[in-house]
Amino acid sequence: MRVRSRKICLVGDYAVGKTSLVNRFVSNQFSGQYLTTVGVKVETCLVDIAPDERINLVIWDIAGGDRLTSVKKSYLQGASGYFLIADVSREDTFHTALALQQHVVTLLGELPFVGLSNKSDLLDSTVVSSVHQAPHFSDSLWVPTSALTGQGVSEAFIQLARQMSD
Ligand code: GDP
Ligand code: MG
Repeated sequence: MRVRSRKICLVGDYAVGKTSLVNRFVSNQFSGQYLTTVGVKVETCLVDIAPDERINLVIWDIAGGDRLTSVKKSYLQGASGYFLIADVSREDTFHTALALQQHVVTLLGELPFVGLSNKSDLLDSTVVSSVHQAPHFSDSLWVPTSALTGQGVSEAFIQLARQMSD
């Protein structure tokens, strides 16, 4: 069994569900409470990407107030990939995510990433399709997830782990 460690970061606006997605994936739990993340929290999780291949994901969850200026180089340094996260119920979070991505590319260059349109449980299919038709929205970029129901969450982590394994 080959095991390699890879650092990943969570990049996205305030309250899009970054901490909740990690809790869902690492502990299979969800809390409706909003606890502002203080500083940076690091969690690790083993992900099997092939029968003989395992990635030790080292997941960095940034503090609250996750604006462009606060996504510091020290947080991103050494990352092999990242999640770009938006909240389907707040369209502005997609714009923030894309601006943050430019910032990440400037600091680190092109890295593997997976875009998550989180809180997909909040929208019925009609609203989701209108979000999907917005000009900044590309289906191939955004995978629907819900930290509340668990929809798409483990698949997204496995997808990112696979993208970083080459
Ligand atoms: P962060 O600031 O990006 O880390 O966001 P949090 O994980 O703290 O979540 C912000 C708020 O959104 C909390 O009240 C969560 O319970 C809620 N939340 C997070 N993910 C979901 C989701 O998938 N669905 C719903 N309905 N609420 C969510
Ligand atoms: Mg948080």
